[in-house]
Amino acid sequence: MDTRVKPAYDVRNNSVAFRMTWRATVLTLFSEMFPGPLGVSLAGKALASGLWELEARDIRDSATDRHRSVDDTPAGGGPGMVLRADVLADAIDAADIAPDRPRLLMSPRGRPLTQAKIVELASGPGPWIVCGRFEGVDQRVIEARRLEEISVGDYVLSGGEIAAMALIDACVRLLPGVMGTPASGADESFSDGLLEYPQFTRPQEFEGRPIPEILLSGDHARVAAWRRAEAEALTRARRPDLLMARTRGQKPPKSTTEG
Ligand code: SAH
Repeated sequence: MDTRVKPAYDVRNNSVAFRMTWRATVLTLFSEMFPGPLGVSLAGKALASGLWELEARDIRDSATDRHRSVDDTPAGGGPGMVLRADVLADAIDAADIAPDRPRLLMSPRGRPLTQAKIVELASGPGPWIVCGRFEGVDQRVIEARRLEEISVGDYVLSGGEIAAMALIDACVRLLPGVMGTPASGADESFSDGLLEYPQFTRPQEFEGRPIPEILLSGDHARVAAWRRAEAEALTRARRPDLLMARTRGQKPPKSTTEG
């Protein structure tokens, strides 16, 4: 059990609380890919200052034969190779994961990753993530080690590492102390089921296009109303699915039993 604790800002009760450092553990065949992009900018600075921790463990360290092989041909035939259940299970067991940590497997067959899931993962102790390679991993280890499959989109990557980095990056920017202003995560895309309104900065006029006048008015209520309307229009045009999910969330269908 990890006993390192440090004071952290607790957004829920607006106070400094003691909590364990958020930690991501990655199981991969390419541990040299980490921290990679997670080592620069916001995430990198936060990593260097100890606001979160990253551990990349090599699955190949659990290979037992002299060729250190981790994969084999698919049962039933077909192209490519499959990550062996025994090797991956040994790698998982050797990691000695605390029972409260989410156990994820990056997989195009998984549930699509959402900002709501990111908020959930960022609020916990930090996930533990298996990255697949080749044609994927043996189904039996997914079941035996209760891995939750998560997809970053309806396309196929060559490995789970970049998907894991996307997930970790999205979590890290929500951790207390990582983003400059605590409010900057509050009204961005998806936080309210809407895409974010358009942003502008200097110069006041760019190639004949001025910044919308209302944003320079100093009238906070009108600015907020304008942003709201823009966010709704943008979401309606680009992601009507988000609007529908939002309406469903707000008004539960009459047919559901009332408690
Ligand atoms: N044959 C598999 C794809 C394997 S891709 C299939 O058709 O489902 C190799 C590995 O890349 C996967 O095991 C997974 O870990 C990762 N990966 C690929 N696409 C991904 C996605 N959209 N989301 C998350 N992980 C993905």
